[in-house]
Amino acid sequence: MKQIARGIRKRCPHCGGSDLFTRWWTMRRNCPTCGLKFDRDAGYGTGAMIVNTAATIGTFLVVFVGIMVATWPDVPWTAALVITIVVNTIVPIVFYPWSKTIFLGLDLAVRPLSAEESAAADVWLRQNATTAGAASATD
Ligand SMILES: [Zn+2]
Repeated sequence: MKQIARGIRKRCPHCGGSDLFTRWWTMRRNCPTCGLKFDRDAGYGTGAMIVNTAATIGTFLVVFVGIMVATWPDVPWTAALVITIVVNTIVPIVFYPWSKTIFLGLDLAVRPLSAEESAAADVWLRQNATTAGAASATD
């Protein structure tokens, strides 16, 4: 569970380290604190996409049902449509970094770090010990 909580805080789910993103859309390849490689398998971004879609659908449902409950029986359907389109456009953009860290936290909670991954993280950390931030930022 602590891995998921760290992901929700946009921290490294493995060590709790920060500074995982160089830009809003750009996640470092490795954690600058523990060296964990964030893309644990090929196609790893699909899991984050599922988390982001679930968050968007959840927010949409809360907003849509909230509008219906608050205004029933005279629901302003056009306004509800415009508001939910805006919500469905903004939430995936704003939530993007958290979708990556939360999925990584979920994955680490279910499938802990292997000995090989841990060794690779140690090697990466030794090679980038003094320039971890600068090396990752240029990847
Ligand atoms: Zn870390």
